Amino acid sequence: MRLPRHGHHSVAELFPRTHAEASPRLVIKPAPVAPPAAGHVPDPDDVGAALAPVVALLAGRKLAVLTGAGLSTDSGIPDYRSPGSPPRHPMTHQQFVASAAFRRHYWARNHLGWRHLLAARPNRGHRALARMEDAGLVSGLITQNIDLLHLRAGSRRVIHLHGRYDRVVCLDCGAVVPREEHDAALVALNPHWRERFQHVADLEVAPDADVVLDSTADFRVADCPRCGGVLKPDVVFFGDNTPRERVDRAYAFVDDAEALLVAGSSLAVMSGLRFVRRAHKAGKPVAVVNRGPTRGDDLASVRVHVGTSEALPVLARELGA
Ligand SMILES: [Zn+2]
Repeated sequence: MRLPRHGHHSVAELFPRTHAEASPRLVIKPAPVAPPAAGHVPDPDDVGAALAPVVALLAGRKLAVLTGAGLSTDSGIPDYRSPGSPPRHPMTHQQFVASAAFRRHYWARNHLGWRHLLAARPNRGHRALARMEDAGLVSGLITQNIDLLHLRAGSRRVIHLHGRYDRVVCLDCGAVVPREEHDAALVALNPHWRERFQHVADLEVAPDADVVLDSTADFRVADCPRCGGVLKPDVVFFGDNTPRERVDRAYAFVDDAEALLVAGSSLAVMSGLRFVRRAHKAGKPVAVVNRGPTRGDDLASVRVHVGTSEALPVLARELGA
């Protein structure tokens, strides 16, 4: 039998420049909290005052809400795009699809890391948005997060723009496998894998994470239980497109609303920025609440550089939720 194409390469060759990287959901240990960006950073006691222009802008208007990684940092899920975060080079969709070695590497780390998301709990920001929906203030919530914390907080009209961590899809037949079920299959194929590596979990974010990487070569990947095809987490990787149907449903949230609230997203990727453009083009006000500057600031009517855990409870209360 011929060796796979990558069989004789070292890990360093297989994962050039990505050897210490993985997508956020794979990392067990949260990155250090980023320092607040320079500029308009109000004292915590002044959050109410800082938010006054946002309240004035949004009061009495039905809102679409767009959220990103900044909302979940206080739930222990790191945001790799915030200022001060280490540069990341997550695996791309193309790498995952093209290479069995990349897939093995991905699943090996994901098998260790996904329970970190399972254990995460919503914070005050998530709960405030859920209260706003209950009070009839929100037409719909679009999130770039895959962590499901909005649903756990009680939000109902949620579009997971970049997918959700609790599902695995077959690239060949389209079957959807619950992540728990997939986990059981991986445990059966890789007994004692977690126990073996739990003690080196801290190395996941260390510069010399090669210990973990060198050890993924013998990980066994589970195939689709229906057709034997390639399984991929139901999340949008870098280099992949958000499904059109999902984008259209999210546009409808913006179209049904009278204003857009951006919370905890730096709008670094077009998948989020396009909703700001959509609202702006329709003449709808846009408010940005984020720890640092965002790529949509020029289009925003107001922006406040405050963390969402501090800001959203105040905003919800002031808007009557
Ligand atoms: Zn399949």
